[in-house]
Amino acid sequence: MGLLSPKLEEKRLRLARVAKRQAFDCYMRRGQVPAALERLVEAAGSQAKFLDFGLSLFTKALGDDRPTTHYVWRSAGDERVRDTHAALSGQVFAWSDPPPHGHPGSEPNCRCWPEPYYGHPAVPDALLRLQRVVQSDSTGNALWSRIETLTRPDGSLAESTIQMRDGTRIYSAFSGASVTNAVTLANGWTVRFEKRDGVRRVYLGNDQIPLMEVSWAASGPQVALPRVRVAQVSLDTETEPPAPGPLILPSAGIIVAAGLLSLHNMLQAEPASLGATAAASPVIAFKVWKDGDDQAAGAVLVEALTAEQVSRWCKRLPEVQEWTNTAAIELAPLRAVSGASVWGTAVHAHVHNAVEALRISSPLAYGNVFSELSIDAEGRDSAMRIGPRYGHADTTRLDILEQVNPELVCVYDIKTGVAGLSMSRVRVIADRVRTRFPGANFYIMEVRPFE
Ligand SMILES: [Zn+2]
Repeated sequence: MGLLSPKLEEKRLRLARVAKRQAFDCYMRRGQVPAALERLVEAAGSQAKFLDFGLSLFTKALGDDRPTTHYVWRSAGDERVRDTHAALSGQVFAWSDPPPHGHPGSEPNCRCWPEPYYGHPAVPDALLRLQRVVQSDSTGNALWSRIETLTRPDGSLAESTIQMRDGTRIYSAFSGASVTNAVTLANGWTVRFEKRDGVRRVYLGNDQIPLMEVSWAASGPQVALPRVRVAQVSLDTETEPPAPGPLILPSAGIIVAAGLLSLHNMLQAEPASLGATAAASPVIAFKVWKDGDDQAAGAVLVEALTAEQVSRWCKRLPEVQEWTNTAAIELAPLRAVSGASVWGTAVHAHVHNAVEALRISSPLAYGNVFSELSIDAEGRDSAMRIGPRYGHADTTRLDILEQVNPELVCVYDIKTGVAGLSMSRVRVIADRVRTRFPGANFYIMEVRPFE
């Protein structure tokens, strides 16, 4: 009797064959066999080694709060990246087996970050027994009603289908460094986001030609528009007449933004359903285009930022989170007495006071942090924040803004209710940021008090 069941033994032999063939192919094409593949050939060589290998992957996946066993090394891609890290950029590493100088972000001032790599680099899904799990929300309060996932034995996500309560459906597939999210909105519109080799492509409907290509660079999102004019991917449909062409209104910009909003809100509510960890910070990135005196802003990508990425772009996020937590805790008695909306108003005011105090006591450090910018062009109206903030009053102010540099603004939207970001809220933010910080691209991040 062997260590493995006949079925598993059959899979081991198949894996050994496939791994050897791939190793041979790699050798023929590139003159060398990747270390990961070499280990796999070795592991598939005997029953005992195969079992050990499987267990090491599995315990690793269970041991960490990581969505995957492997990651792709990503770096800022500018001239400040040290040569040793530029050389690692794009390579795949195991969390259990870091390169000589450690994982991304571990050396001083390193701005590199790990991008999730789904599945083992050398094992095709066809060889694995995927685990199917269906979750239903019985409370009726979640953003989603049903989530179906297919997970690999190493704990990484292979596929997910999310049914949201507003009628939106999100189908996602994860393989290696590639991620596809197909979002079908309640009205039937479909938008597809594909991430491959660090480049994201956005497709409308079943189109094979991308609407735009987005890459994530040191200075913010870089966008190429192969098919359309800026006006069509911006959020302001009113400012430009629809252009003749294959696109039918509502504008592509609104469909893309609605798709990204759904992804963002699910990343916030149920990160595991989209292959992310609870530790990641979802962000929606907006690109601002200049056209003479006019500016157009469009939502271009959603990203679950790692701590390394947050420390590079939206540096104040940990502090904003802390101010929000403190406010929520100190005001907890008010919630019990006066209800959630009064409490929510008070939490916002409490955070605002904390920011104002810091701006006065440390004007150099906090000069680039702004609180409760009022929507009207006259500037901040301090009297307004005493009034009720629930309902429509909430849409008139921006909670906290951090001007990272002249080209980039981070907007921290403090949320005390269950609802996610809405399209109307996003449009208000876009409008205000453009007026106050002309030409700057911006990221929107939600901040909720930890319960
Ligand atoms: Zn680095």
